[in-house]
Amino acid sequence: MTEEPIHIEALKSVPPPSEKRISIQVTASAQRHVRSGHPWLFENSITKQGREGAPGDLAVIYDRNNKFLAVGLYDPLSLIRVRILQHRKSADINLAWYLAKLCEAAEIRKPLSAGNTDGYRLAHGENDSLPGLIIDRYAETAVVKIYTPSWVPHLSDVVSALIEVIPVRRVVLRMNRITKNEKKYLYGLADGGVVYGPPLEGPVVFRENGILFESDPVNGQKTGFFLDQRENRERVEKLAKDKTVLNVFSYTGGFSLYASRGGAKSVTSVDVSKPAIEAGKRNFELNKGDDRIARTPQEYIAEDAFKAMERMRNEKRFFDMVIIDPPALAKSEGEVAGALIAYARLVKLGLSLLRRGGVLVMASCSSRVKGSEFYQTVFKTAANSERPLEEIERTQHPVDHPIGFPEGAYLKCLFAVAK
Ligand code: SAH
Repeated sequence: MTEEPIHIEALKSVPPPSEKRISIQVTASAQRHVRSGHPWLFENSITKQGREGAPGDLAVIYDRNNKFLAVGLYDPLSLIRVRILQHRKSADINLAWYLAKLCEAAEIRKPLSAGNTDGYRLAHGENDSLPGLIIDRYAETAVVKIYTPSWVPHLSDVVSALIEVIPVRRVVLRMNRITKNEKKYLYGLADGGVVYGPPLEGPVVFRENGILFESDPVNGQKTGFFLDQRENRERVEKLAKDKTVLNVFSYTGGFSLYASRGGAKSVTSVDVSKPAIEAGKRNFELNKGDDRIARTPQEYIAEDAFKAMERMRNEKRFFDMVIIDPPALAKSEGEVAGALIAYARLVKLGLSLLRRGGVLVMASCSSRVKGSEFYQTVFKTAANSERPLEEIERTQHPVDHPIGFPEGAYLKCLFAVAK
């Protein structure tokens, strides 16, 4: 493995981070947080700071006895002033460091890449000690998504390390909204730009457990696909035999194709996004070589989920399995109560479409909504609807979405039989 930076043409205009580190001291409570391994240091926790810095400069946090606590990326634009890369032991943050980090991350994902899957998350931000950085792989294309401009000066090292660690030919850069708008710190880089390898010509195709999917890293949601539901999709495949399946919030048909391969009698996919529904149809076409998928009748509905479910209820349609995987319904603490009401409405609607003895699959990806609150809401709503649930299982994060700190736990999913 080389430790010489590979020249990445698209990143050549980006200056490296300052050679000089910023020294920072913090309040006693922040000190405890940092010691416990938390990845964020907030602006109001800083008691003393050596100098002002630019996004991506390295900041070193010391305790009151000047003992090293952590090193991370300085971000003057965010209330999260330092995103911590390494706790306890000092380190040079350079290509070798990123290589080691990404090797570690790849090792955890080995069981996935050894199988019939070449789409997975290689780096899951904070949870892989790379706060504010996501790397998703779709076959030969990697998508690096940054949530702060403080990653920009490090991209050259990150991308050099990435192409050493996994066999990709192309790297696409994505940015969240905040980052996209900080033009001054982007040095001409653009959201959706290819920073390494051949230009992108539309969506890329990858395999998940042998099923082909397209992912559009530029125009798709997230980095193009919801990789985190892979294991829940496998569970759906195992339960779908001879069932009529309704997949609500289907996006590009992930659950729909697994249900089809599992022997579903028919599959109905509902999503408000027309492009997602169209991509779902193309994904079905891509898998026509698999008889089990090809022979399963598909119905596609591009409509608001609540409206579509109400309409089907009025039409007295029933299914043997209803999958409900809504987008994050609470983005802040203030939205939790409203999200729980929406989950309850979805459960109620879902159960009204589910035959007795049918399977409900109900997911939540809102990190603000605790598992206990979510499951309680689902069970209570079912009981109030006189459709008590018999739990099959509650599932958690897949291996490529590890949970590294409390805020990192977001995905919950219930599989249950409705009486
Ligand atoms: N189950 C999907 C991921 C779902 S993500 C998978 O396995 O890939 C959430 C989806 O909800 C997105 O596709 C989004 O377009 C859709 N969505 C958001 N609001 C919606 C609404 N009101 N009605 C229907 N779909 C909606």
